[in-house]
Amino acid sequence: MALSQKEHFQHANTHEPLQVSGRGLELLNNPWFNKGTSFTLEERDALGLRGLIPPFVADIEEQVQRAMENYRHKTDPMEQYIFLTALHDRNVTLFYRVLMEHLTEMTPIMYTPTVGFACQQFGHIYRKNRGMYISLHDKGRVAEVLNNWPSEEVDIIVISDGSRILGLGDLGANGMGIPIGKLVLYVTGAGLDPARTLPILLDVGTDNEDLLSDPLYLGITHRRVHGVEFFEIVDEFVQAATKRWPHVLIQWEDFTNDKAFPLLNRYRDDVLCFNDDIQGTGAVVLAGLLGAMRLKQEKLSDQRIIFYGAGSASVGIADMVCAGMADESGISLEQARQQIWLIDTRGLVTTTRGGKLEEHKIPYARDEKSVENLLKAVMKIKPTAIIGASGQAQTFTRDVVESMHQHCKQPIIFALSNPTTKSECTAEQAYQWTNGAAIFASGSPFNPVRLNGRIYVPGQGNNMFIFPGIGLGAVVCGAKKVTDGMFFIAAKTLSHMVTEEELNSGTVYPDLEKIRRISLAIATAVCRLAYDEGLAQYPEPEDLRQYVRDCMYHPEYRRYSAAE
Ligand code: NAD
Repeated sequence: MALSQKEHFQHANTHEPLQVSGRGLELLNNPWFNKGTSFTLEERDALGLRGLIPPFVADIEEQVQRAMENYRHKTDPMEQYIFLTALHDRNVTLFYRVLMEHLTEMTPIMYTPTVGFACQQFGHIYRKNRGMYISLHDKGRVAEVLNNWPSEEVDIIVISDGSRILGLGDLGANGMGIPIGKLVLYVTGAGLDPARTLPILLDVGTDNEDLLSDPLYLGITHRRVHGVEFFEIVDEFVQAATKRWPHVLIQWEDFTNDKAFPLLNRYRDDVLCFNDDIQGTGAVVLAGLLGAMRLKQEKLSDQRIIFYGAGSASVGIADMVCAGMADESGISLEQARQQIWLIDTRGLVTTTRGGKLEEHKIPYARDEKSVENLLKAVMKIKPTAIIGASGQAQTFTRDVVESMHQHCKQPIIFALSNPTTKSECTAEQAYQWTNGAAIFASGSPFNPVRLNGRIYVPGQGNNMFIFPGIGLGAVVCGAKKVTDGMFFIAAKTLSHMVTEEELNSGTVYPDLEKIRRISLAIATAVCRLAYDEGLAQYPEPEDLRQYVRDCMYHPEYRRYSAAE
């Protein structure tokens, strides 16, 4: 019998016993069904488990305690990553339970920064299959390959070609750690059902010489393909994936800019998809700026913003900020862009500096004389905000920050580059050089800073505040596409979730521990917009918020009975 829309999404949460066909060791070796020592005596009898596990029946909290004891014996983050991955391979429910109860502690292990190191060593620490690989060798047969995926229900795919992994560059097939890690965050952050997520690595070669000569590298030893050849295989993937799973959401992840922007523009109107590096970053940073406006009691459209770096992140943020200015003050996007300056490796992005401008920079190229470095730009432009997304450590120097502070009482300094070692400046530097006046946020977490007898809590502009909620919202209403309006509403929703107390401690982002509540609010707002704009394909539920809440997966064991 076909499941109703609500039953479909609540599947993982129902209290009805689940009929399982496997028995004995087969069941224990299946990480989706395994409960380890938590199988009840009744289940052990019914499912042929007696004697295969110790006699004591533990509850999940005891199992969490045991897992944590083992986890904490490991002090090296890579060892912790491997431990958690192995836990996932044994028992998916317990893995998510452990993660959700230790979110702040473990997010930097399962995602940036540790996942970056895990990707660098992927071929060396590889233990077990997870997700899917589509390579150049599969050209013409991608549909056949996708048919090998065992699940008829996939809600979300995260796909990367491994070309620009975090700040680490081209990691080829090693980039698989990123789609895997990102989907883990969708599950923990918003309750997407893990059984209906699919990480995919699109292996179109690598230009990384170290990998090409590494005997343990697991990808194809082929140089990267570009242009028509690249887009042909992506087209084939999109067609095959949307044919097999018509409502699937595709998230483009960590593609270099020459691919990221064209891919988004190629599919965004016809396929349910988005790019988190561009759109998610835009929304999370806009939310931080809106928080800063609450602190400064100023208008967004009065800010003068320099972006250091002019790639996916900066342009995604700039687009979202302009939409925010237009929404706030009724000005045109054209007028809003007058408040934005981009700096790339060649200095201020202008129409006058000669040479070819990449397409994504063109709307922000200014008709003025170029300036070759950040300090000169700060002195000339007198910004109220500088946003670093350059991947270049320590480029917000003392001179830059002090010069900015001379004409701006509360400078907004967002040093977003990851990992921590790449941050444009540290939280401590930003507060010290402005005598505590800076409103600081970063991409990677920094500890609170004590200065002049006060404690300043730096905010982390973590995309995780946004993408899980967007994904959940889009999936549970059956959205036809993901629009910029959805990211905009997500940014506004997030900014409203920062409490006065949090703002007063200096942070413009809420506590990550509140992620489930934040994602619920964002997903509900996204659904609302989708229904209002006629983009939702599933019938509208009476109580939207309750419906979204009911669709969220919680890592709890279900009762099992033997299949008849
Ligand atoms: P990208 O490669 O698309 O862009 C980097 C940009 O920096 C390019 O325009 C490049 O020209 C410019 N650049 C490089 N060196 C420079 C220099 N010396 N001076 C001036 N400009 C320089 O990368 P991206 O996706 O935009 O990411 C950039 C950084 O932002 C990364 O470190 C990433 O980790 C970080 N990021 C943070 C968040 C977040 O905090 N939520 C989100 C996304 C990206």
